[in-house]
Amino acid sequence: MPSLVEISHVSKVYPGASAPALDDVSLCVEPGEVLGLVGPNGAGKSTLLGILLGLIPRDSGSVQIAGHDLDRERSALRRVCGLAPQELGFYPSLTVTENLAFYAGVAGLGGELRRQRMQFAIEAVHLQGYLGLRSARLSGGLKRRLNLALSLLHAPRILLLDEPTVGVDTQSRRCILQVIRDLCSQGQTVIYTSHYLDELEQICDRLAVIDQGRILREGRLADLLGEADQTLRIGLRRPPRDAQRSALVNQFGADLVFDAQGLQLRTRQPLEALDSLRAQGLELRTIQYGEGRLEDLLLRLSTAAAAP
Ligand code: ADP
Repeated sequence: MPSLVEISHVSKVYPGASAPALDDVSLCVEPGEVLGLVGPNGAGKSTLLGILLGLIPRDSGSVQIAGHDLDRERSALRRVCGLAPQELGFYPSLTVTENLAFYAGVAGLGGELRRQRMQFAIEAVHLQGYLGLRSARLSGGLKRRLNLALSLLHAPRILLLDEPTVGVDTQSRRCILQVIRDLCSQGQTVIYTSHYLDELEQICDRLAVIDQGRILREGRLADLLGEADQTLRIGLRRPPRDAQRSALVNQFGADLVFDAQGLQLRTRQPLEALDSLRAQGLELRTIQYGEGRLEDLLLRLSTAAAAP
């Protein structure tokens, strides 16, 4: 069976840019799956979402969503996708209800169907108590929830969430995450971008790590965390000298990354690795092993990708 989303060899260079925003990106998303798209600022996440929606032209490659080809069936494809963009997309001077009614109209919904879809979107994000309020007066968290509600109006088969919790307080963030989890448990397919790694760990089935326009790694969250499990994190009393650094780089290659606290080393043999570090005369302050952290994995992937 074909995947719900099939992105094949997509590349994009913005006019005048010296490097591609996307470089031969291929990804699939299966029905009911939550795919997390993670990477630093400028990695290419928003460009990829824009291309999926047909808002940004690509230079090469193909995109199919639910069997619709992006070039031949753009309007059908837009009906299948719902986007909650990073920039809030509603009119601040309209009330919550007026915004929902306006965007329901834009989506071509009328009559009873419009009423039902508005009701669904309001309940999904728990906005019942705020319907008559001017949208400008909503708190940051409620604005994010309204933004999300608008993307749900036309019952998209796939929901694209671009940093849906950016700039909100902890309580609102928790509420938004619960809303997304509820949608996912009802079988909603989601592509989710976020800088917050704990969110991705809570929500996603699968992750694609993107940097400098390339997919560095893609896989099931549990597998990626299992990989991070094999990271030895060492805090050092003082930074290593140049000679110590180069000896260790010679020995461990791309498995070794230096960070502000000391270093991280990917290894299945932590005891032997500790012996090697001590043999170089390093003074170890803290030692940690066997606690998979997404952050470590991402740091290692990005550092390896940036290496000449
Ligand atoms: P992310 O969403 O991961 O932060 P973007 O997709 O916004 O990354 O950006 C990817 C790269 O493309 C960056 O180098 C960014 O500066 C560049 N870029 C994004 N939008 C434009 C644009 N409209 N014109 C030129 N360059 C752009």
